[in-house]
Amino acid sequence: MDKMYILEIHPREYGVFKSKKKWYKAFPDMRQVSAQKYRLKISEKDLSYYKRMCKKVRVDCLIYEDRFGRSYSYRAKFLREHPPLPSGKYRCWYCGRKTRQITVDHIISIAAVKRDPKLQKQLDRKGIDINGEENLALCCAKCNQTKSQAYDKSYIRRAKRGRHESYWKFRNFIRLLIVLAATALVCFIVYYFYI
Ligand SMILES: [Zn+2]
Repeated sequence: MDKMYILEIHPREYGVFKSKKKWYKAFPDMRQVSAQKYRLKISEKDLSYYKRMCKKVRVDCLIYEDRFGRSYSYRAKFLREHPPLPSGKYRCWYCGRKTRQITVDHIISIAAVKRDPKLQKQLDRKGIDINGEENLALCCAKCNQTKSQAYDKSYIRRAKRGRHESYWKFRNFIRLLIVLAATALVCFIVYYFYI
């Protein structure tokens, strides 16, 4: 079967708002997916044609294989497979916060992968599906905002351990021990030196 590709233009980013008519004529089927994003699905056999057209209208286009784009079916499935805690809240795998407003995050972000052929090759080598279970994490709104779209290995590590509820229980237990030890130390100092 033919590979499918996505041709994407971000008008504001590329500064082509002024010349919209020109590129719009070249790609009449392009669909606006958000205020600043236009997209078109193309097949492998049309790839060279569209690459030529991109050069012709002098628009910077992003072309990537569609399997590196966002699939829209992963969220519900992932939430079904990772139900909330008995309290009805979800645990964020990055920071451990409990919340009802959970998002499903791509650990290695779509934005990073679709722009980076090297990263795409790396994922293929490791057999990672960008929209698959191994690349998804429960994520609170705050982490979702602060996590950058760039490739960041530390989030892979955090998601790997944060997905286990036992990790957070153990961490909270250690914290409690530290607080107790510090309190005991203060009591001892006060007792020893001032009483
Ligand atoms: Zn979080």
